[in-house]
Amino acid sequence: MSLPKIKEIRAYFMGGATAKKGSGGGDYHDQGGNHWIDDHIATPMSKYKEYEQSRQSFGINVLGTLIVEVEADNGATGFAISTGGEIGCFIVENHLNRFIEGKSVSDIKLMHDQMLNSSMYYAGGGGVVMNTISCVDLALWDLFGKVIGLPVFELLGGAVRDEIKFYATGARPDLAQKMGFIGGKMPTHWGPHDGDEGVRKDSEMVKHFRELCGPDFWLMLDCWMSQDVNYATKLAMACAPYNLKWIEECFPPQQFDNYKILKQSVPAGMMVTTGEHHGTLQSFMTLSQTGIDIMQPDVGWCGGLTTLCEIAAIAKAKGQLVVPHGSSVYSHHAVITFTNTPFSEFLMTSPDCSTLRPQFDPILIDEPVPVNGRISKEMLSKPGFGVELNRKCTMKRPFTH
Ligand SMILES: [Mg+2]
Repeated sequence: MSLPKIKEIRAYFMGGATAKKGSGGGDYHDQGGNHWIDDHIATPMSKYKEYEQSRQSFGINVLGTLIVEVEADNGATGFAISTGGEIGCFIVENHLNRFIEGKSVSDIKLMHDQMLNSSMYYAGGGGVVMNTISCVDLALWDLFGKVIGLPVFELLGGAVRDEIKFYATGARPDLAQKMGFIGGKMPTHWGPHDGDEGVRKDSEMVKHFRELCGPDFWLMLDCWMSQDVNYATKLAMACAPYNLKWIEECFPPQQFDNYKILKQSVPAGMMVTTGEHHGTLQSFMTLSQTGIDIMQPDVGWCGGLTTLCEIAAIAKAKGQLVVPHGSSVYSHHAVITFTNTPFSEFLMTSPDCSTLRPQFDPILIDEPVPVNGRISKEMLSKPGFGVELNRKCTMKRPFTH
């Protein structure tokens, strides 16, 4: 069977620094006001009073959504989204395009390797360049699936379970419990600059939800790179009586030694997790060796689905779980094929976590949300990633080639 070749790759952006706030989409931090995701969440910038209340105040949503579309010479198209905006468009249309156009739709590993190696001199440890490569890689998998007529998870070797169970990330684990999720992960609101008072306030939040949710519902904390070893250790100790399941991303990504120390310091049975801001396969190898319990790559930021599968293999060899940072369909099609991913993350994007809203709303059409905290294999049965691009969104193509 001769497969079509890729005729053109196009890059668009939506939202970002020059747009009205609250565009959502791939840059899901770009929400409107009064949203839990921007309400005094602890960050590495929280030590500066003027940037403590809002992550948008320091620019978390300046990039905007990157949309990459690939078209085959038989007219089939595939696409994907990530965070990367206009910068990502520049990289796709001026650099990465040369490795994509003219290749067979099935040459994904070749295109992926050429994108990685050709950008090594300016990609650094990941960041927006890797977000962009990830987005192209995901668009290629979508196109391949749509050409072949199979969902991406079938292309990867097939599902190892009939459904994916989800925990919910948001400010209201009690509401997530009522919706059928298996756990709730909350952001921390305080950090080392708040001293012991910060430890007390965040541990009291865990205590509050433990009382509301009963003894067995999973409760986790996400610390978004905001802590140091002593503070993280104290917080873990303070949350132990409330059966905190894991403590996530306490430190900046490159502080591998601190993750190793924390894993050895937390109460027995409490898990240590991180990975969403790690951007190379090599960094996941180093991270794995720290002994953390769950690696959490973001498929839209780590190098795409091709790299995510390699990371899952590293974790599997070490006996670790890989539970990707919530990325909706792009995660679902991978995790349903991973033997070391018994559950996955659903990120709440409704402002008060009281309703289920698709993570990347409004940029995808037919983006599934969990039903009773679960997404079944049947819900992923459409070709590619099973979603279409919502062309009613305001998108711009700033560069062409
Ligand atoms: Mg996180």
